[in-house]
Amino acid sequence: MTLKTLQPYQQYFVPAIPRTPTNRYASIIMLRETKSYAIFTTEGGEQQDVEQTPAGLAHAEPTTRLVMFKRKQVAPERRTGKALLRQYGIFPYAIKDGRVLYGEEAKREKKHYDDCYLTEGLCTHCPDCLIYGYAAIEGEGARKARLMTDTCFTIRPYEIIQKQVKFNVINEATQTSGTITEYDYTTPGVFLPAVETTVDLTGDEFTYVLGNVLRTTRYGKEGTRQGFVRNHILAVAFSDVELFANLEFTQALYDALTADPNVDLASGNLALADLQKHALSAVEHLTADLIGRLRLVNGEELEALLRDVRALNQKEAQLAAFLKELHTQSASFVV
Ligand SMILES: [Zn+2]
Repeated sequence: MTLKTLQPYQQYFVPAIPRTPTNRYASIIMLRETKSYAIFTTEGGEQQDVEQTPAGLAHAEPTTRLVMFKRKQVAPERRTGKALLRQYGIFPYAIKDGRVLYGEEAKREKKHYDDCYLTEGLCTHCPDCLIYGYAAIEGEGARKARLMTDTCFTIRPYEIIQKQVKFNVINEATQTSGTITEYDYTTPGVFLPAVETTVDLTGDEFTYVLGNVLRTTRYGKEGTRQGFVRNHILAVAFSDVELFANLEFTQALYDALTADPNVDLASGNLALADLQKHALSAVEHLTADLIGRLRLVNGEELEALLRDVRALNQKEAQLAAFLKELHTQSASFVV
């Protein structure tokens, strides 16, 4: 295990990529916060995606919330990780008699992998393919993801976190006003509580996933490159059972914030500090009746872990060695 701060939790990870599940769960509990205008739509949609849900766990009245689908969360993080693998020289690679070859040596092999990309060019042997999974590929079968999440929801209702903006495009040649386009935007400072649950990862694979979450800053409508989102990690939890749905987390936070006399959910802005104040008690409330064991990592313990992840990502040589070792492990994994 590369990270020293993960060693005390060794028992919650698998020593090597497993062939069969053992349900060792490690959950990354976080808040996704928009730091710019963003657009969350499914392809071709004019309006953003919304859903009506009960406002809280203790508040049954319905509220309309903006949603961010699972794919909209995981795909950008996969792309971040893949770009990193490319930059640090993982490709091309080849597998020969159980050994993993790189660079020129790999290119000399008839069967070698030049790249791995979503969605048609997945190589099926790199850390991304083995962690996030892939649909059926000829001759390779399919692989179930060892990372789970679901749709996440805003805490506050859609009506107060959304803005309709009209743009008047000026035609440069004629200096006349062209088409007026109207966009439905999510405003900055909007929070979407989320949990990403990894199953049966090695410690290093978990470090890779956590790095992807921390590195990724662009979410939302693809192709527009807008939508800066900051992921704030609140806790990491090790368990032998799944903890809670993203919606339950949003609802528990809604209940706590509604009961807080210093927070007015219906108007004004919601601050990160307001959420940090209630996050841990919300998690404890949601896991009080858990049918399984739970080891929660937060506070100074979490800070130490995040410092360690940052340090690894800041050192080029160390990160290159880490990624190569991680890739050698996945490429030499035989089903
Ligand atoms: Zn791959």
